[in-house]
Amino acid sequence: MRNEQPNRFTIKKMDESRGHCDCCGRDSRSVAGLVYDQGNAAAAYWIHWTEGHLSDIGANLDLVLGEWGEGTSPADRYAISMVHRQQADGTPALMVIDAHGRPAANGNLASTAMRRDDVIGTPLAAQVFALTDAIYEQDDRFF
Ligand SMILES: [Zn+2]
Repeated sequence: MRNEQPNRFTIKKMDESRGHCDCCGRDSRSVAGLVYDQGNAAAAYWIHWTEGHLSDIGANLDLVLGEWGEGTSPADRYAISMVHRQQADGTPALMVIDAHGRPAANGNLASTAMRRDDVIGTPLAAQVFALTDAIYEQDDRFF
């Protein structure tokens, strides 16, 4: 699953918070961070999960990609959402879902919400999975 080559992406950990799952009250966690592509901001991400729910509901992983920095606006960025789910054999599965309705797509950071079909089967998919690999490898808050 992991990329054999050194990953060109580096991450910077940002906010994190704790809460409780609405359905069962178990501890839930949210962590956020930034991904840099060779030193330039490439994406922001948020991961939200509840302990004990990784194999059923799974973890939400939301990305906002595009242009960042001075002179850019939400119109320059787009949201992509995924669900990370632990399968019965212990391996994780990552599924791109419709980003509409996800907090990352509320318009404050990104004007465009991508659907699964906007990502899967396009060159964007490889970039998204490389970014995600970097997050998994470098953000030790998510297991
Ligand atoms: Zn629950």
